[in-house]
Amino acid sequence: MKNIYGLTLQDLENYFLEIGSKKFHAEQLFRWLYEKRIESFEEVTNIKKEIIDIIKNDYSISRLSIVDIQEDVDVCKYLFELEDKEHIEAVLMRHDYGNSVCISSQVGCNMGCKFCESGRRKKVRNLETYEMVLQLLMIEKLLGERISHVVVMGIGEPFDNYDNLIHFFEIINHPKGMAIGARHITVSTCGVVPKILEFSEFPLQINLAISLHAPNNMIRNQIMPINKVYPLEELIPAIKTYLEKTNRRVTFEYILLKDINDSEQCAVDLAKLIHNINCYVNLIPYNETNNLEYKRTNNIQIMRFYDILKKNNVNVTIRKEFGGNISAACGQLRSKKEDL
Ligand code: SAH
Repeated sequence: MKNIYGLTLQDLENYFLEIGSKKFHAEQLFRWLYEKRIESFEEVTNIKKEIIDIIKNDYSISRLSIVDIQEDVDVCKYLFELEDKEHIEAVLMRHDYGNSVCISSQVGCNMGCKFCESGRRKKVRNLETYEMVLQLLMIEKLLGERISHVVVMGIGEPFDNYDNLIHFFEIINHPKGMAIGARHITVSTCGVVPKILEFSEFPLQINLAISLHAPNNMIRNQIMPINKVYPLEELIPAIKTYLEKTNRRVTFEYILLKDINDSEQCAVDLAKLIHNINCYVNLIPYNETNNLEYKRTNNIQIMRFYDILKKNNVNVTIRKEFGGNISAACGQLRSKKEDL
């Protein structure tokens, strides 16, 4: 049975018309779900019982199970079990500006980035829209506080699950839904060019981050197989098109991997590659994992890399690290339950 948390307000309106009911019930039900946070259709008091019975026949309102929670200072990792017993993770980060949650978009990932722990498990399936929505709803409930920021940077390649992702954005951004501001939502892609172009037509002002991680094709091909499909000479123009159409900025994520992409020449080349792009660069200290041989660049070299970018007028920051102690850091989202 389909799950009610996968429907946008528009979908709900169409549904009410289809079952011969009134369109305005859609907004009422949407508010029950996202403002009042009901957990059973019985709690709805302003829609006739006969109609509720029809809905109950067509849609489930069930939630996901949370089977493990690991907490550390300012960070908390949640392990969810899906209806088909697959597992995914989401991470809550407490910032001074609010609560940010990093969600997963797929079970496993097929992009095969060499340095990424969560991609070692191949994609089993896409997450349904409701499974993305419920990661947020359930964390908010446990927390008893609002989530102010959402990043789609957990397990999976969100642009390999584009349609469900877009519906997810429409639901969580809607002022009558969870009302999370578009500018507080970020999606990160390894560089799926056709979807970047499609996303440039999407009306909500959601932030786009690109996992760049290399200043040239030679290095990028070594560590990110997607680059063989969409090399930099396609990726960079696609990003420029996105910027022209949306008038926004893009964030480039750049993990610093010892002796792979962290030389001073790499910093110079990176500055050249992006010199006329309206962007931020986010330098990410690599989180080492036991299973992969990549090493983290030391702090002195990170600062050198940073300084070269600064000197070349790049807007650059070094990412604050969260969750290293509980394997909740970037690229480490993979539960011990499913260890390979
Ligand atoms: N597939 C998307 C989103 C998920 S990965 C993407 O590639 O952008 C989120 C970010 O974490 C990416 O920038 C990814 O390259 C980075 N990452 C992966 N493994 C990491 C690790 N071990 N340490 C630091 N960042 C890592």
